[in-house]
Amino acid sequence: MIPVPQTAEVRLEGIGVSPGIAFGVAERVGRSLEEPEHLLVEKREVEGERDRLTDAVLRTREQILALQQAISESDGESHAGVFDAHLLILEDTSILNEVTRIVETERKSVDWAFYSVAKRYIDSLRKISDPYLRERAVDIEDVAKRLLRNLRGDGDDDGMRPLHHGTKILLARDLTPSDTVGLDRTRIRGFATELGSPTSHTAIMARSLNIPAVVALHSLPEDFSAGGIALIDGYHGLVILHPSSETLAEYETLLEREHTVLTDLEPLRDAETKTADGRRIVLSANIEFMEELEGILESGAEGVGLYRTEYFYLSRRELRDEDHQYETYRAVVEATQPHGVIVRTLDIGGDKLCPELVDAPEPNPFLGWRGIRLSLDRPEEFRVQLRAALRASAHGKTRIMFPFLSALEELREARRQLEIAKDELRSRGVAFDESIEVGAMIEIPSAVCIADHLAKEVDFFSIGSNDLIQYTTAVDRVNDRVAHLYQPAHPAVLRLIRATIEAAHRNGIWCGICGEVASDLVLAPAWIGLGIDELSVGAAQILRMRHAISKLDSAACADLVERLSTCPTSADLHAECLAMAEAAYPELIL
Ligand code: PEP
Ligand code: MG
Repeated sequence: MIPVPQTAEVRLEGIGVSPGIAFGVAERVGRSLEEPEHLLVEKREVEGERDRLTDAVLRTREQILALQQAISESDGESHAGVFDAHLLILEDTSILNEVTRIVETERKSVDWAFYSVAKRYIDSLRKISDPYLRERAVDIEDVAKRLLRNLRGDGDDDGMRPLHHGTKILLARDLTPSDTVGLDRTRIRGFATELGSPTSHTAIMARSLNIPAVVALHSLPEDFSAGGIALIDGYHGLVILHPSSETLAEYETLLEREHTVLTDLEPLRDAETKTADGRRIVLSANIEFMEELEGILESGAEGVGLYRTEYFYLSRRELRDEDHQYETYRAVVEATQPHGVIVRTLDIGGDKLCPELVDAPEPNPFLGWRGIRLSLDRPEEFRVQLRAALRASAHGKTRIMFPFLSALEELREARRQLEIAKDELRSRGVAFDESIEVGAMIEIPSAVCIADHLAKEVDFFSIGSNDLIQYTTAVDRVNDRVAHLYQPAHPAVLRLIRATIEAAHRNGIWCGICGEVASDLVLAPAWIGLGIDELSVGAAQILRMRHAISKLDSAACADLVERLSTCPTSADLHAECLAMAEAAYPELIL
């Protein structure tokens, strides 16, 4: 039964980072760093204050290790890796030395000294434009809150008020990793946070838990009381507080539709992906974390079209050795047969920073040391990954692709390293697929311009539309301030995608899309009309996309593409595609 709303409806716009609709009783978990009492200590008390700090650090460390263990068991090792950053903060002597100095020279209590130092770090990190470094503020805040609690002697109480009975929607300034671990996640239907970006921990967690989520709301009204009704629309990045009866009824209808559609699509799980006129498309899935593998296998995906290897690699240093990488890739390869997996070599850089990059921040990380550039500058480490992927290829169909190519020389050097890696394995007598296919990611406009040359030296292309959009339109893909300019349907983007597919086909190779637009149900007619061969999408989108494709006619889509080539704006182009999508599969257009 839907509760009766008592206050006027408030609509807040953010960024939808996990699709779906959820509504229910809201719980506000706003917890900022609480300022302790401002106390002075006497000289004879200084020693005791230092001991309190040492004890609190030890206690905090024990708690974090216990949390890490718990999340590793419940959510897998890669999620647990975020706590490594917390442990590093605790080991940061510059913070602890400064706290001790304040206690000794200014005679402030250790609580207040620690609070003031941590607050200064947090505030200055929050001002940095780089989203990754901004996220580090959340980590420091998380550790600081825990340490202050331990100084106060509040024990293991993590400060989160217990969720009220029936709580389903969580509203927060931000959710730290330990917040999400400490919650009873079976009772949460949706997240909404003031901070965060699509690459924030909250977003990643929400997607892997398949919970609708909206981030970057900037501010939630202070007076919104716990126990009020909140609705999360993860499709459109909308949070509606005190939704009116009309809004609730409208969304209830949508939810029913969503449920009916998903049930109706079940029989497509084992079906081939074909257009209405019988053109075959390969529909594969993207994977970041090993924990997603089971969902991918159940989704009906034809293998993995994009394995973002950097996520597991970034999470723990010890995962970087060849045997560990090999075992991980092998598990994915074996599980995804007969279709197999496309292993993308490391795409570190941009917003995915390894410790080396955190220590030496770049002025423009997205235009900097990223993807293949980083791999080619560290050939020994690059070949560790190549050997691991090659070894996995002995266990089933495996392809390798290189990210972030901007010039032919990079592709040639990457291939040369691959040949050296093969020789190294041969000399060790280790088996691999001698005819392993190699692909190029096309995600930089310069790569599109030289696509004919690249195509002659690879077996396939995979379009990384997330980056292609950002580099074509000069819109940072993780900056919520310019998010409205990030337009997948931009006519320039369509032209580049078209040029890439045509170059691939002219040169006799296949071309797929593995960026987010591959799962865009409105733009699907454009991809079919352009003759795309493969689409790699999030596992949750497989059945919807298979159904959409089955309703499209390739000739009609090709005609649509001709009309799209004359559209001057994203809105025009989007409207043309929407008209065809609505006519072909209205049940999927929510
Ligand atoms: C892309 O850029 O579209 C892509 C698939 O790669 P990533 O999102 O990992 O940069
Ligand atoms: Mg990319």
